[in-house]
Amino acid sequence: MRAQLPECGRSRDVILGELTALKAADYDWQRGRVPVYVFKTSDEVSEIGRAAFFEYFSENALGARRAFPSVKKMEEEVVGMALGLLRAPDQARGFMTSGGTESITQAIQSCRDWSRKRRGRRDHRGNIVAPESAHPAFDKAARLMDLEVRRAPVGPDLRADVAALAALTDDDTIMLVGSAPCFPYGVIDPIADIGALAEKRGIWLHVDACVGGYLAPFVRMIGRPIPDFDFHVAGVSSISADLHKFGFCPKPASTVFYRSAELAEFHAFDFADWPSGRFTTTTISGTRPAGAVAAAWAVFNFLGIAGYKQAARELMGFVDGYRAGIEAIPGLKIIGDPHLSIVAYGSDTLDIFRVAEAMSRKGWLPGLLQKPKAIHRMMSQLHALGLEDYLSDLRAAVETVRADSGRQARIEAIY
Ligand SMILES: *Cc1c(COP(=O)(O)O)cnc(C)c1O
Repeated sequence: MRAQLPECGRSRDVILGELTALKAADYDWQRGRVPVYVFKTSDEVSEIGRAAFFEYFSENALGARRAFPSVKKMEEEVVGMALGLLRAPDQARGFMTSGGTESITQAIQSCRDWSRKRRGRRDHRGNIVAPESAHPAFDKAARLMDLEVRRAPVGPDLRADVAALAALTDDDTIMLVGSAPCFPYGVIDPIADIGALAEKRGIWLHVDACVGGYLAPFVRMIGRPIPDFDFHVAGVSSISADLHKFGFCPKPASTVFYRSAELAEFHAFDFADWPSGRFTTTTISGTRPAGAVAAAWAVFNFLGIAGYKQAARELMGFVDGYRAGIEAIPGLKIIGDPHLSIVAYGSDTLDIFRVAEAMSRKGWLPGLLQKPKAIHRMMSQLHALGLEDYLSDLRAAVETVRADSGRQARIEAIY
C-alpha cells in the first residue's frame, strides 16, 4: 500500500517515538554489527561534529561565497589542512564535495576537459584504465560522461598490477587510477609505480584515497609502513578523500584535490546564459549542507594531528587484535596484507559464505567479497567494543559449518 500524507500533522512526541520504534528493525550498528557505511572514533568526536552540523543546519553551502562567508572560510581551511596532510605543492587546489562518488566524478570531468583541451578535440571520447579493485564510482561517472573504463587484473598481492595497467593503456587513455587503499582488499596500490607510468605516457593519475586519505597519513605518522600514495608522488594529478569515512566527520562530506591551479581550472561550473545571471558552483550538487562544512571544520580542529594520531593508534591496535583473532581460528585466513582497517578473510576448507550466513543469524550484517569469496569488514572504533563477541560468534559459526558441510550458501555478495 502506498503511504499517504497524513490529513493533519501528528505531534512531535508521537513522531519521535515512532522513529525510535522504526529503528528497532535496523542492524545494531552502534554495537559494531554493520561492517560498512558507518564510522566512529569516539563519542566526543561524534558529538562535536553533530553540534557544529546543527549550528549550521539551515545555511546552504551553495551560498557560501555570497551569503555565508563563514562557510567559505571554513571550507577553505578544511581544504588547506588536508592539502598539508597529503603533502601537496603550494599551487595545489582542492574542494569539498558531498561524497566520494562526487569527488571522483568531478576529478574525471576535470581530467576529461583538460585532456580535450590538450588534444584540441572537443569530441574526444577517452578511456580510463583502472585496477579491477577500483570503486564502481569510476564506472558510474564514466556512464554519465560516455567514457570507457578498462579494468586490469590485480597482481598476486591483490594490488594494482602496473604491467597489466600499461597493457590496457593506449593513445585514447585520459586517466590512470590507483586506490589508497582499494575497498575490496584494503591494500594500497603501488602509486609510485603507477605514477611513473602516468608520467612516461603523459596521462593524468587519479588516486582514490576516499577511504584512506584521512587515515593513512596518521598511520604513517605513528610509524607503520604506508607506501607513498599522495602528492609526494610526482605523477599524481588528483586525489579524492572522504571526510565522512576515516576523517570521522558527519555525512555528507568529501574532498577532491588537484596538483596545480592549471588542473583545477577545469573543476568549477560557470554559467551565465539564463535570466538570473552568473551561476558558479564547485560541486555537482547545487544546494548542499553547510552543516557538513562546519562539522568537518570542527572535527579537524577538535582532533588536530595529535587526536588523529591517537585515533589511528587505537584503531590499528584493535585491527592487530582482530587479525590475530581471525588467524587463530583454524581454517580461516586473511586475504592479502591489508594496510589499514579494511580486512577480509576467507577459507580454503570451508564455504565462507555459509559462515557469513551463520553470523548473520546472530545479528552481524555480512560484508562479502565475491573474488575471492571472503567476509569483508571496514572497521572503526565501532567494531572494537564488539571484538570478543564477534570472535566467539565466529568460532561457533565455523564449528557449525564444519559439522554440516553439505548445504549450499544462498547468500550473495552485495556492497
Ligand atoms: C566509499 C568509497 C568511494 C565512494 O564514496 P561515497 O562517499 O560512498 O560516494 C570511492 N572509493 C572508495 C575506495 C571508497 O571506499
